[in-house]
Amino acid sequence: MLKDSEVSLHIQVKRILSGKTLRGSAFGEYSGVGGGCPGRISCRAYQRGCLACCRETPYNSSMMTPIVTKQVNYQDQYIRELEAVVQDVAAVGKEWGILLDRTIFYPEGGGQPGDSGTVGAVDIRTTIKRDGNIYHITGSQPDLSRGETVTCRLDWERRYDYMQQHTGQHILSGVLHTLFEINTVSVHQGETYLTIETDRADMLQEEIEAVEDAANRIISSNIPVTAVEVDEARALAMRLRREPKVSGVVRLVRVGDADTVACGGMHTASSSEARLAMWIGSEKIRGHLRLYWKVGDRAIQDYREKTAVVRVLSDLYSTPLEGIVGQAQNRLEQMRILRQELDDQERRYAALLIRNLASQADISGSVKIITGDFSQEKSGFLSRAVQQIPEDEPILFCGIQRVGAEDIRWVIAANRDGLIDFSMIRDRLFKIIEAKGGGRTPVWQGKGSKPENGAEFLRAFRETAGA
Ligand SMILES: [Zn+2]
Repeated sequence: MLKDSEVSLHIQVKRILSGKTLRGSAFGEYSGVGGGCPGRISCRAYQRGCLACCRETPYNSSMMTPIVTKQVNYQDQYIRELEAVVQDVAAVGKEWGILLDRTIFYPEGGGQPGDSGTVGAVDIRTTIKRDGNIYHITGSQPDLSRGETVTCRLDWERRYDYMQQHTGQHILSGVLHTLFEINTVSVHQGETYLTIETDRADMLQEEIEAVEDAANRIISSNIPVTAVEVDEARALAMRLRREPKVSGVVRLVRVGDADTVACGGMHTASSSEARLAMWIGSEKIRGHLRLYWKVGDRAIQDYREKTAVVRVLSDLYSTPLEGIVGQAQNRLEQMRILRQELDDQERRYAALLIRNLASQADISGSVKIITGDFSQEKSGFLSRAVQQIPEDEPILFCGIQRVGAEDIRWVIAANRDGLIDFSMIRDRLFKIIEAKGGGRTPVWQGKGSKPENGAEFLRAFRETAGA
């Protein structure tokens, strides 16, 4: 029989093994498991081996027995380097994961990416949590042994960037809720921007700017960002902006009076370290408005880059900032007018050319037969030419135009029904230029892959059309 305390541990171990969140929250997971070895219980409950009672059995993740990794980063989020002991190395999909007795690497979760850096000489791409274990992920099998002491180093620049993003997100979500009772549905801390999906379908520009202003006032007020652990009941009684997703001990992260929420992520120690939060755009997704933000050093860099763009545009348009948009709109309108004029000119030119060809065309019965190689004209000329075939007399038209070294376009047109039976001439013509394509009265068109036979194609058309 298991004692009561062991039954409790049994339940906890079962939750670990099933991959569900353990009592005691997502932070400091295994604090309730005696001696840091859930295997002692799991041996009795599940007949599995572990370090405590089956030392002869290899201890690895394939047994699904969690290794207790102490997350030192929760004691101090600013530690960049730590000595740790390798507990195991395991295959994780096509990559490899290093398990340590303690770590400063944050495993991906809550919209925050996993940390990268090095463990010993091994480059760590990211850090993840699976089945209760924290895996420091690397591409190839690392040359590390169990029991080996290694120095872990965070990619601090990246981590600090995400600490700024995460803190900024708390402040922004808090302000959205306080000012407009807008809830945060999901967040994503991307490599270049932060997004917050709201439960609102839309927001006025003035509302977004009010959120931006309020958030930046909180940032500049240098408010401490603190974390405390409380039990679930107390957390629920506090009616937080978002109900805790974990049970047992809940880690509450507080930015003064601006925001308090259960969170296991990494934050800066004060609001001022988030530096700046600027809205850069929105999109609608699943009926929700998703807001895009630049936070922290990224926001400063973004301002710098946009200023550089404005300076270039200002020089190009010879106008100060406030005149750039007007100048750009004027130029676009001028371009539209010029494009229209050019289009008219090209249409007139095509009409003249076709009329000229018609005046010199062969005549078969009462039908004029116009053929031409228009390879010297602009691309798309054939379509324009077909539209300019005169309507006042029966005309058959066949034009070709080379497209690059290997392709040729062809068009056949008739301005009256019954002037040509395309199915009768198709096979003979297609063979000449290895053509593809088709159509129906009044236009047939396509491409061929033997442009060198273009002249023969036109000659064959004249013959078959009876010229
Ligand atoms: Zn957080």
